Amino acid sequence: MNTTRRFRKLTVVEHPLVRHKVTMLRDRRTPKKIFKELVDEIAMLMAYEATADLPLEEIEVQTPLEQASGWQVSGKKLTLVPILRAGLGMVEGILRLVPSARVGHIGLYRDHDTLEPVDYYFKVPADVVERDFLVLDPMLATGGSAVSAITSLKRVGAVRIRFLCLVAAPEGVRRLEDAHPDVPVYCAALDRELNEHGYILPGLGDAGDRLFGTR
Ligand code: URA
Repeated sequence: MNTTRRFRKLTVVEHPLVRHKVTMLRDRRTPKKIFKELVDEIAMLMAYEATADLPLEEIEVQTPLEQASGWQVSGKKLTLVPILRAGLGMVEGILRLVPSARVGHIGLYRDHDTLEPVDYYFKVPADVVERDFLVLDPMLATGGSAVSAITSLKRVGAVRIRFLCLVAAPEGVRRLEDAHPDVPVYCAALDRELNEHGYILPGLGDAGDRLFGTR
């Protein structure tokens, strides 16, 4: 795990398995089925890092032999919020790690001309103040969708929010840090730059299309 000096709130998860899997994701020859499995696995590994500071409380359990003291996760309830549609690819892997997490959804798409997010769906659990949020989107490109999703969550009262992506562009991380300096950002790779169409370079192409086979 590497908390970069360049961005105060960014953690790049540099586990060898993550780096290996991200490279497979980038490969244009990787078929849809494998791409989907890789997104799922990397999301799970990233959630492992992003939840490393969850508070614990001590409990007693009875083993088959005697009483033992142990730990259980305490504190706020976890909610995953995938940004539709590519964020959906990250949900199942994280749910395997935290099966009790709730799942909200934020529907945003990028206008192809302005590259700005357009809002069309918002649904999260009602007890927002009680919850820790993990906002999910595989690609942090311009940062427009991430900023907009987090603004919408804060508007309904969310206070503890983290953002998880697989590949980030420096432009997106900067914009997100400027707009929401309180939100920690986790990525599996910090790439070079955006191209003129808002795609990340070297990137992995359109994550939604590659997940759902729409191109
Ligand atoms: N969204 C994607 O799916 N890929 C990019 O490179 C940028 C935004």
